[in-house]
Amino acid sequence: MSTTHDAEDARTTTTHGAGDARTTATTGPGPTALRPMADDLGLRDRCHGAAPLTARLEPWLEDVLARPDDLAAWLAEHGSPLNLLHPGAMEQNAEALLVAADAHDLDLGIFFARKANKGLAFVDEALRLGLGVDVASERELRQVLDRGVPAERIVLTAAVKSASLLDLAVRTRPTVALDNADELDALLLAAHDTPDPVPVALRLAPALGPDRPQTRFGLPADAWLRLVDRGGQAPGRGGGLTITGVHFHLDGYDAGERAVAIGQATELVDALRERGHRPAFVDIGGGIPMSYLDDGDEWERFWDAHRAALSGDGPPQTFGGHGLGFAVDDGRLRGRWGGYPYHQTGVRGAWLHGLLAHPVAPGGPTAADALRSRGLELRCEPGRSLLDGCGATVARVAFRKPRDDGSWLVGLEMNRTQCRTTSDDFLVDPLVVRPASADGGSPSPDPVADAAIEGHLVGAYCIERELLTWRRLRFPHGVAVGDLVVFPNTAGYLMHILESASHQIPLARNVVVGRDGVRPDPIDAAA
Ligand SMILES: *Cc1c(COP(=O)(O)O)cnc(C)c1O
Repeated sequence: MSTTHDAEDARTTTTHGAGDARTTATTGPGPTALRPMADDLGLRDRCHGAAPLTARLEPWLEDVLARPDDLAAWLAEHGSPLNLLHPGAMEQNAEALLVAADAHDLDLGIFFARKANKGLAFVDEALRLGLGVDVASERELRQVLDRGVPAERIVLTAAVKSASLLDLAVRTRPTVALDNADELDALLLAAHDTPDPVPVALRLAPALGPDRPQTRFGLPADAWLRLVDRGGQAPGRGGGLTITGVHFHLDGYDAGERAVAIGQATELVDALRERGHRPAFVDIGGGIPMSYLDDGDEWERFWDAHRAALSGDGPPQTFGGHGLGFAVDDGRLRGRWGGYPYHQTGVRGAWLHGLLAHPVAPGGPTAADALRSRGLELRCEPGRSLLDGCGATVARVAFRKPRDDGSWLVGLEMNRTQCRTTSDDFLVDPLVVRPASADGGSPSPDPVADAAIEGHLVGAYCIERELLTWRRLRFPHGVAVGDLVVFPNTAGYLMHILESASHQIPLARNVVVGRDGVRPDPIDAAA
């Protein structure tokens, strides 16, 4: 067994707070029961799913959760919700990948996919760690250059590249991942009078079999070779461009598919080298998996409970019977979860190890051999998995109200674009902490503040189904106005990829958690 697994295992975090041993009765104390001392409760005791999905927590977040009054003060100053950024875990996340590549005798270049979080603290940390940065737009590129990241450590993968972005790239010289013939022509135009050729990586759309729809990213190898061979206005032919590598980016997390893609990328490298070009790396893009949950059984039990609920055999797990991708059709439950696999086995280092040990074709060399035998550097562009453990989103409870089915709506000062990706839902249990300022601490009678309730989190957009998570949650010790709901591990995409300022509600502020409190991330001051 390689050391990669050890590197992953080393990131074991405390998963429970001090009150772990106490049972969280779902019925809880009645309205007249004595209010439990806040100190008696473990970090997770105030909220969990009807079928729990227990988040992995980094020590920095456990520390913050144990200081609810500080947290309340930060929200009082910066507003609700508040994004907490903490880049500390990036180092161990990157290290796991480096160790895996090293075990296969490969050099690995890690380029942090910045679109996963806009916080500049993560760019600064990538720079400090000697990582590169993958940028997806003109402003991302400008900001990353302004933070001092050298151009040779930047790859520009923007899916659409405007003329002004290409001009900036020609002037500042990051590696440009070229997607298509029109983009090639636009870059040749932008670069026609540069003294030094602009470094480009050809973006390959690998052929992954008849059942796999072609990726939108890149062109097939033969299409690239036709462009390279057309003479005159071709990449690497006097036109101001030089081919430095081959890149691809696939959706999903399948290591086997990526091994096949590496095989095709190395064949394209061979064909380019035969033509006198000198590509030196294969960049496998993003999609390196991570887990939000430690417990795979819990993940299975959640889906069992949810399917049972949809089939009428158990209590509801979601609001209004939302199927999370499943539906009852003709008496049979069909569908599949299309969102992020919140529990996965084989993440980061272990996943990369499996990929590199995988043959590029049946009976063929391993992906590692295919790269090593050609002296190629391996590059990757992790976004989400590099930010694992690097953030949380905190929002203040504004109201609680009962529904006529006995469940409750808990309204947060937050909207659903502030913890959401393009997939259906955030399936991890939020945590609830109670600062002294919460109304639960006031002498006026407030039975709900301490009584066990069940219900749903709703947000600020004026939409009937504005749910912050579809999952039904239990609050065994009640919810008070002023309680803080903490969505753990939101740095990768969840904070920013869909956030909107609709209703003229400002975007959430982003603060970096340090030893002495929080400081604003400079991104909120950027134009
Ligand atoms: C989004 C993206 C990434 C990052 O993907 P993750 O799944 O977050 O690792 C990397 N490269 C490219 C080109 C992307 O578009």
